[in-house]
Amino acid sequence: MKKTSLPDYQAQLPRFCEHCGRPLPPGEHGLRKFCAKWYDQFGQVNDCKSDFHTLKNKPQNDEFRSYRNTVTTDAETIATLLTKFGNEVTTAQLAAQSLEITRSIDYDITEDGKIVSQFHGYLIISNSLTQKHQIEKI
Ligand SMILES: [Zn+2]
Repeated sequence: MKKTSLPDYQAQLPRFCEHCGRPLPPGEHGLRKFCAKWYDQFGQVNDCKSDFHTLKNKPQNDEFRSYRNTVTTDAETIATLLTKFGNEVTTAQLAAQSLEITRSIDYDITEDGKIVSQFHGYLIISNSLTQKHQIEKI
């Protein structure tokens, strides 16, 4: 496809950095949306494009980080439970370790009414009548 240049009237419109709002220099490439990188007197880089995308992705990154930490912490807690009590624990023992079955990655309910909760590396099979939970490594 043949490359075309922007029409004059568009090139003359003032444009602004999408991150900091400073005007972009006239005559900059039409696709430029951010200030060019520059260094302050302390040698710190000012990079509006990177800052913009970091900020934009921050909420998802935080959410993902928090979820990943929960998954990891729960797996460590289950490993501790196994070491301390073996592969059958009570609801009280789970609660004492702050492990909540509802935080599982996935769950299923068997025909006989047991709840199978999947954690990272483990299944916990809960019997709500006996308040006992079987831990299985997967
Ligand atoms: Zn900027």
